[in-house]
Amino acid sequence: MGGDPNSGGDPDDLARCTDCGHVYPVQRLDDGTLRPIGIEGVCRCGNDEFRRLRRE
Ligand SMILES: [Zn+2]
Repeated sequence: MGGDPNSGGDPDDLARCTDCGHVYPVQRLDDGTLRPIGIEGVCRCGNDEFRRLRRE
């Protein structure tokens, strides 16, 4: 378990909604797009822009 970079559904990162600030786990696609997991790409506030959080 774990360690397979091609497995679907595992979050690569965290991203914050640019509007309400809610944080979601995201997958980062090959082209750099952030795809929030479980919310179909749209925040509960209706915003669809997310900014990746830096990992410490
Ligand atoms: Zn939001």
